[in-house]
Amino acid sequence: MGSRMTRTGDAMAESLVAPRQVTGSGDMHVVLRYTIPGRASSDLRDDDAGIALPSGAQALLEAEYENMLACVRCGLCLTSCPTYVLTGNENEGPRGRIALVRALTEGRIPLTDELLTHEDNCLACDACTDVCPAGVHMGPIQVALRAAAEPAVRRPVWVRALRTMVFDWLFPSMPRFRFLVWLVWIYQVSGIRAVLRASGFLRLIGMSDADDLLPPFVPDFLIASGQTYPPEGDGSDGAETVDLFAGCVMSTALASVDHATVRVLQRSGCAVSCPSGQGCCGALHAHSGDRAGAVSLAQSTIASFEVGGDRPVIVNSGGCGAMLKEYGHLLADDLDWASRAKRFSSRVMDASEFLATRTLPVMHPIGAGSVRVTYQDACHLSHAQKITSQPRELLRRVPGLELTEMAERSLCCGSAGVYNVTHPETARELGSRKAESIIATGAEVVVTANPGCYLQLRARLQATGSKTEVRHIMELLDEATAPVIAR
Ligand code: SF4
Ligand code: SF4
Repeated sequence: MGSRMTRTGDAMAESLVAPRQVTGSGDMHVVLRYTIPGRASSDLRDDDAGIALPSGAQALLEAEYENMLACVRCGLCLTSCPTYVLTGNENEGPRGRIALVRALTEGRIPLTDELLTHEDNCLACDACTDVCPAGVHMGPIQVALRAAAEPAVRRPVWVRALRTMVFDWLFPSMPRFRFLVWLVWIYQVSGIRAVLRASGFLRLIGMSDADDLLPPFVPDFLIASGQTYPPEGDGSDGAETVDLFAGCVMSTALASVDHATVRVLQRSGCAVSCPSGQGCCGALHAHSGDRAGAVSLAQSTIASFEVGGDRPVIVNSGGCGAMLKEYGHLLADDLDWASRAKRFSSRVMDASEFLATRTLPVMHPIGAGSVRVTYQDACHLSHAQKITSQPRELLRRVPGLELTEMAERSLCCGSAGVYNVTHPETARELGSRKAESIIATGAEVVVTANPGCYLQLRARLQATGSKTEVRHIMELLDEATAPVIAR
């Protein structure tokens, strides 16, 4: 690829080679030695001369090189980027991150802890992708960089062991995942959680924020084992069979949302099939540097759903849906899987994307009859999948529901997969900012369509003492479409 490379100077990239230098040139003013969200500047080594690129890294980076080259450095994405909004730092914005990874790919700068920190602070929220006039797609760049760098990332032994357990042992197996969630349920209802919280132990070990994210639930899991739920209604909209992607978190800790989704689909006249063999979509792996794990889960998901031919694959999690739609790109260079992945991705539809095209039964008011609601755009639904109007259109069909918009509606809430666990401070700041925007609307209910946002909003609103209820859009539609006799 050498001939395609440009060797022009790059202020942002070179700032990392000489970390004490402060450069300023036009709109690329770079200020260094600030407090980096997720890691204190004192943690960075002054002798950070760089780490050798692991073998195979160059090929992964080069696969996204055209994507990096598309950036014309216009800066239109900066104010959409959560980490740039919080820090005002170029290296913490999309343009800076692309410049860094491009310079790394071109061999102009080494792989350093500081570079990795700037890239790792990215929420992979795709807000920059959404507004970029040049068609840069940040998600695949981050997936490639994190996979390329992972073998060289310095982590404590226990963190490595934990990653292996989570990525290689837990998520690939739904029976194990369900067992873990069942243990979490025991932890909540047995009183152990209450004791640990009251004693301050969770705060002492830095797990208080993570604990706040746990939702109350009963282990009424939806186990996809090839069953089909029949359609309801008079069939005037045409009976259609759809496949449900049940998800790992959605089918366990948030199984009530999966059950609600099935009921709403049935009421829209669809039979709902739950192919066996499905599990986690691999998004967590892809965004955490385990590309091989993501590929393996993608292949197993694709194989599980091929039984459904070309039926729509319905997903109620924005993050999972974005990942499923990315399989075509993820496996594009795999001769055995490329066409199967592309075909599978073309079948995937978010539940609200699908339901907006269907006739739903007559809706009833929810709650006391008149309710003010605001809708939280999940990044991977709005930015990555461009689905913003369909959920709002569905909500407007509910009698008595007043839909109001919040300020900064496209700004990430700080959830971003496990970002609120790995970067608790930044996530808390973004979550609190989002909670303030929600509270300012006066809404009694905030609706979202992604498990991460659901848990993050719940935790941050509770932290403020707000009584605003957080609901998944499928729960709300389930209540609104439930037969009157059953309500
Ligand atoms: S909007 Fe696109 S082209 Fe412009 S700086 Fe951002 S990523 Fe680059
Ligand atoms: S993906 Fe989100 S956090 Fe990352 S650079 Fe783009 S806007 Fe910023």
